Amino acid sequence: MSRLILPAIDRRRFLIGSTAAALTMPFIGVRAAGPRFSANPFGLGVASGCPTPDGAILWTRLLGEFDPAPVELRWELAEDDKFAKIVQRGTVRAIADEAHSARVELRGLQPHRWYWYRFMAGDAVSPIGRTRTAAAVGDSAPLRLAFGSCQQYEQGYYSAHRHMAREDLDLVIHLGDYIYEISWGPNHVRRHGAGVPTTLPEYRDRYALYKSDPDLQANHAAFPWLVTWDDHEVADDYANDRSRHQSNSDFFLRVRAAAYRAHWEHMPLPAAAKPSGPDMKIYGAWRFGKTADILVLDDRQYRDHHACNTTATVTDCDERTLPGRTILGAAQERWAIDRLSQRNGQWTIVAQQTLMAQADRARGEKPQYWMDGWDGYPASRQRLVDAIAEQRPSNPVVIGGDVHSFWVTDIKRDFNNPDSATVASEIVGGSITSQGPNPDIVRRMLQKNPHLKFAEAEKRGYALMTLGAKRADITLRAIGEVTDKNAGISNLAQFAIEHGKAGAQKA
Ligand code: FE
Ligand code: CA
Repeated sequence: MSRLILPAIDRRRFLIGSTAAALTMPFIGVRAAGPRFSANPFGLGVASGCPTPDGAILWTRLLGEFDPAPVELRWELAEDDKFAKIVQRGTVRAIADEAHSARVELRGLQPHRWYWYRFMAGDAVSPIGRTRTAAAVGDSAPLRLAFGSCQQYEQGYYSAHRHMAREDLDLVIHLGDYIYEISWGPNHVRRHGAGVPTTLPEYRDRYALYKSDPDLQANHAAFPWLVTWDDHEVADDYANDRSRHQSNSDFFLRVRAAAYRAHWEHMPLPAAAKPSGPDMKIYGAWRFGKTADILVLDDRQYRDHHACNTTATVTDCDERTLPGRTILGAAQERWAIDRLSQRNGQWTIVAQQTLMAQADRARGEKPQYWMDGWDGYPASRQRLVDAIAEQRPSNPVVIGGDVHSFWVTDIKRDFNNPDSATVASEIVGGSITSQGPNPDIVRRMLQKNPHLKFAEAEKRGYALMTLGAKRADITLRAIGEVTDKNAGISNLAQFAIEHGKAGAQKA
C-alpha cells in the first residue's frame, strides 16, 4: 500500500473545505465501480490552466490510501455547469509516483468559450471546475485578467482568492510564492504544522496543505491559470543551484528537484513540463487572439549567483554591474528577446516574479540596491529594456509580485536619467497574504526614484487588468484585514495605459 501522510492536516477538513467552496458540489456517489474511498479523495479540488484557442490543461490530485496499481479517473467536459451538454469525456491514470495527480490535455475545443469539467474515481466525484479557452488568432476581444502572488499560509486567510474567484475574468496569472517553505513574521492565524521541507514527500504535504484552502480552490475552479514560481516554492532567495540555507550545492539541487517535482504535480501544467531532476522549463508564451501576448518568465532557475554574495540591500559593489550578469540565463534571455521582436498582439505582457524598475532604497545620498531583485542584475535588465526600446513590441506591460506591496512604475530606457524614454509600463499586484515591507522604506523609495509612481505596502490583494483595443484598465484591489476570514474587498487605486503611450496614468 502506498500511503499518503499529511501529519498537520485533519483529513475531515478536506471534505468540509471543498464542500464550502464556491463552484463545487458535495461528495456524492454516482457509480460504485473502481476504488472506494473512506474520505473525499478530491479534497485538493481541481484546476485548469495553459489555455489555448482549442484547449486547456485540467488537473486534480487524489488523496487517500491506494494499492500500488494506477488509479483510473474518468473526466467529463461540458458546455454547461449541469453537464447536460457533455462535449468530451475520457479516462486518465493517476500513479503513486506522481502523487496521484492527474492531468488532461484538452484539444479540439471552440475558442473563447467557457467549459465546465469534473473528475470521477470509483464512487467519488470531484468539485466542478470551469475553464475558458483563449480567443482565436484573429479575435480582438478584450482580455480580462487578474494577477497575484505571495500567499504565506500562516500569515492570513485567502480572502483575496475568494474575491478574485468572483471577478469577471478570462484568466488568472499567479506570479510565485504559491507555497512558502518557511514560517516567518508575527500574527499567524494558522500553522504549517511541519518544518522546512527538503524532500519530495515534504513538499507534497506543503502543497496539499495550501491547496486544502477552500478560497484557493474556488479561484482555481473559477478560471484557467498561468503560473510561474519565485523563490519560496523551493528556498528563500535561492539563485540557480545555490541557497544561502544550504552550503552544499549537490544537496540543494536535490532539494530543488523535489520542489520542482512537487510544483509540477500540483499545477495545471502539461506533461511536457514534468521536470527532469532539478531542471524544469516553466517559461513560455501565450497568445490571446489579437489582444495579448503573455510572456511568462522564470528569473530563479537560471540566474547568476547574487553579486557580492548578499541578498540584502547594500551600497553598490563592482560585481553587481558586470556586463555579463544574467537573471534569466542566456537561453531564456535569447528566447524572450526573440519573442519581443516578433509581431505581437496589441498588448505585450511580460509576467515575471518581482519589481523590475530600478529602486534606490538608501536613506542617504549613496544609492543602495536590493541584490535579490532585478537591481542585482542591472545589465540583464538593460538588455531586456534595450530590446523593448529597439524591437518595439506593441504596448509592453511588465507585471510582477514578490515584494509584498503594490507598485506602478515607468520602465525607463535609462533609469538614471528622468528625461529618458519610458519604454514599458509596470504593475506589481501586491501580495495575497504575505506581510509587506516597512512603509517608511517604501515612502523613501517613492521620494528617491521619480519613475516609481505609486506604492502601497500595508494592504494585501491583487491586480485586475482589462486589455482593450485602445486602453488597458488596471484596478488594484485590496482586502480588509488579512487576519479576518471574511475580509471584504475594495478598490485601492485605478490606472489606465493608453495605446501607444507607455506608462500607466492614474484614472
Ligand atoms: Fe513572497
Ligand atoms: Ca519571493
